[in-house]
Amino acid sequence: MAAAFDARWDAVLGHDRSADGLFVYAVRSTGIYCRPSCPSRRPRRDRVTFFETPAGAREGGFRACQRCHPDATVTAADPWIEKIRRACVYLSNVEGHPALATLAARLGGSPYHLQRNFKRLVGVSPREYADAVRLRKVKGTLRQTGDITGAMLEAGYGSSSRFYERAVPKLGMAPSVYRRGGAGMTIGYAIVDSSNASLGRLLVAATPRGVCAVSMGSSDGELTRALSREFPAATITPDSGAITRWTRAILAHLAGRSPRLDLPLDVQATAFQWQVWQALASIPYGETRTYSEVASSIGRPKAVRAVARACATNPVALAIPCHRVVPAAGGHGGYRWGVARKKALLNSEAT
Ligand SMILES: [Zn+2]
Repeated sequence: MAAAFDARWDAVLGHDRSADGLFVYAVRSTGIYCRPSCPSRRPRRDRVTFFETPAGAREGGFRACQRCHPDATVTAADPWIEKIRRACVYLSNVEGHPALATLAARLGGSPYHLQRNFKRLVGVSPREYADAVRLRKVKGTLRQTGDITGAMLEAGYGSSSRFYERAVPKLGMAPSVYRRGGAGMTIGYAIVDSSNASLGRLLVAATPRGVCAVSMGSSDGELTRALSREFPAATITPDSGAITRWTRAILAHLAGRSPRLDLPLDVQATAFQWQVWQALASIPYGETRTYSEVASSIGRPKAVRAVARACATNPVALAIPCHRVVPAAGGHGGYRWGVARKKALLNSEAT
């Protein structure tokens, strides 16, 4: 999630009075919208939508909260609140990046004070805010259509290179430029012992751009054969150098020493797989979600089976924690590397 929305969420978590009037947050499960300082119980992050104005929330079909009365005007103790709110509305609708001076001229005040007060009240700079809004539009369009080019053009990214440069690092994965079968790719791999009898041997493979496969198996032969099947046209060689760092990070993660596993990934994915994998990456260590919860969290509540398929085709075990998704009916569900391994992973994370 982009920084501007993180800052809003932080304000909600902190019941931050100084954020009142800047935005309201709406909760999908209750249909109610609130000002940031509302004393009510905090909702789950994935159920929250932010609106610049109460009117926006009403148009979105939400009702005003009876406790915090978000429609009442905030007494303007801080004259910047209204100005910055207008700046946010403007940045959400404008094409491209307006210069700070242009923005200041529209709202009144110097560029310096605008920048400073924007950061103080919103948590990020106007430019970062505009980026976050665009990224949100891209994600929204992708969610509806799965069409990357369309989403990109709609969000105002003129060329695809600019899109990848700005948006993709925030989406969390490198765009895959290679063709099917790994033609033209050079892949190095290393196999280590997972130090867990139930998991067995662990293979980590990477291109110069990032990790492209993480798998578990009972023998090294089985693991290398599977890698060759996945990338039949690639040049695959054992690697004793660069990959060591990733295997170390994974082993530390498996031993419970680092709950977050952040590896640079170089994986090929459809827009849908991408969305699912991103949702999986946000499931905290030690927690699980059901397939239908994941489907709802990406705005596709009916796509439960497609979510299960996206989990089953995850090429990077642990790095994208598909083992944290389980059936609503109970039990462990399937796992690309065997249910016994999924069970073992969930057990070790639960303790
Ligand atoms: Zn409220």
